[in-house]
Amino acid sequence: MAFELPQLGYAYDALEPHIDARTMEIHYSKHHQGYTNNLNNAIAGTDLEGKSINDILTELDMNNGAVRNNGGGFYNHSLFWSVMNPEDKGYLTGELRDAIEAAYGSVDAFKDAFAKAAATRFGSGWAWLCVHPGGKVEVCSTPNQDNPLMPDGCGGTPILGLDVWEHAYYLNYQNRRPDYIQAFFNVINWNEVERRYAAGK
Ligand code: MN
Repeated sequence: MAFELPQLGYAYDALEPHIDARTMEIHYSKHHQGYTNNLNNAIAGTDLEGKSINDILTELDMNNGAVRNNGGGFYNHSLFWSVMNPEDKGYLTGELRDAIEAAYGSVDAFKDAFAKAAATRFGSGWAWLCVHPGGKVEVCSTPNQDNPLMPDGCGGTPILGLDVWEHAYYLNYQNRRPDYIQAFFNVINWNEVERRYAAGK
């Protein structure tokens, strides 16, 4: 069974002014669709066909460029859309807030660490907040479409991710990646991040 582009769950313009509708439309309907199609083509007829995307990434041969790039791209964007939503974003509370404060001292210090990881990722890649078994959280980043779950990934299960490829922000922010990173904090769906934390700890 082939992978399918997941539902976005909100309108292209729902995240404005933080993320503009044109960027969302191209990013979702062109880029993410492309990763999805290319992943399906890469696994067709191989022993990866029928496996879950988590298993494909966890067991990945890092030398398999087509599956590495497109499997990562499929997973990363699916997570990215789900952790944003302006209408039901909730608040950072409970066990996840406790874990963030335990790791970083405060929510603001966590945001600084996450923003730094996103800003200093040279070229294309992602910033992540991951949970480790037992509940410890950690910020990290990966290049290109790599993912923390991969054998050479930065470790843990990702629960929040930010795409810092230029295609994610250049139409609206041009070279101002730091402004895009700060805008992202306004549209985080903390309810979904908390759900992923509870499932992954
Ligand atoms: Mn992207």
